[in-house]
Amino acid sequence: MEKVVIIGTGCAGLTAALYTARANLKPLVLTGILPGGLLTTTSVVENFPGFPEGIDGYELMTRMQKQAERFGARVQFGTVEAVELSRRPFVLTVDGECVETQTVIIATGASHRHLGLETEEKLEKKGVTYCATCDGALPMFRNQPLVVVGGGDSACEEATYLTRFASVIYLVHRRDTLRASKVMASRTLMHQQVKPVWDSVVTEVLDVDQDKVTGVRIKNLKTGGKRVLDCAGVFVAIGHIPNTQLFKGVIDMDEAGYIIPRKGSATNIPGVFVAGDCADQIYRQAVTAAGMGCAAAIDAERYLAALNQ
Ligand code: NAP
Repeated sequence: MEKVVIIGTGCAGLTAALYTARANLKPLVLTGILPGGLLTTTSVVENFPGFPEGIDGYELMTRMQKQAERFGARVQFGTVEAVELSRRPFVLTVDGECVETQTVIIATGASHRHLGLETEEKLEKKGVTYCATCDGALPMFRNQPLVVVGGGDSACEEATYLTRFASVIYLVHRRDTLRASKVMASRTLMHQQVKPVWDSVVTEVLDVDQDKVTGVRIKNLKTGGKRVLDCAGVFVAIGHIPNTQLFKGVIDMDEAGYIIPRKGSATNIPGVFVAGDCADQIYRQAVTAAGMGCAAAIDAERYLAALNQ
């Protein structure tokens, strides 16, 4: 039987792995379908402390894994298909095999919601991105026109952040009012570089033949009018989907599916802890996820110590 199983190998999962490994708990760490998590899909990470020149997202995650493994974490490629958390020990079904464990740390992260366009997928990392904080400062976007898609706080945050680099930012939103909080919306629209494009949706990202973003084709939903906006980058900010479907009805979560911790990282089920973006609507940064992973590891360690007393 395992003492700790960590589900997810993003910043939260691997930090929890490092701490529980150093506490000699020999955690089993399950990767899920995206080993290394969302950060592996970005290029240079410039805001993780300790890397003044920045670090490639994939390399950062590889280093985190190695660091956890050095202290005895066992990282295993595998997807959890089912969880049985109403009995002790807990039972996880991992690629058809049963794994028993005393504690679980859920660090399954969140996925960026995509527009669902074929051209969007083809040009991902070639100008299409889901994170201005991660990619906005890249040379390819500097002094260029950029498009941000969305009308919520995330889109406003992305657009505002990009005002430092872009020549102009087209904020393409499908309605004529922003969903974002008033303060975020007015702060965003106040910027002269931000040009809202109301009632419009992106129907195609250009140009797959050139293998880079050169513009977007948009359609006005009220008039039906179509046009092309030239741009060097498309920042899609239409929300996130927490990867928590597996725990629906078992672990307390809000309407959007984000897990709600009870106290610290503890969930409504004693022995099950949560960390990272699957429980974080607000910050969603690598460093905050890592901090939450650390907290979950400490909570799991203390829970096990109390259990064994
Ligand atoms: P959100 O509030 O759900 O907004 C998503 C936006 O994307 C909406 O404007 C929505 O349009 C649009 N959208 C959704 N699907 C779309 C599609 N397929 N095509 C085009 N547009 C689409 O998501 P969010 O902005 O990520 O915010 C999520 C939560 O995090 C919110 O509670 C927010 O307050 C919070 N947050 C807070 C901060 C902060 O305080 N600093 C920063 C970021 C996020 P409609 O408006 O028409 O539905």
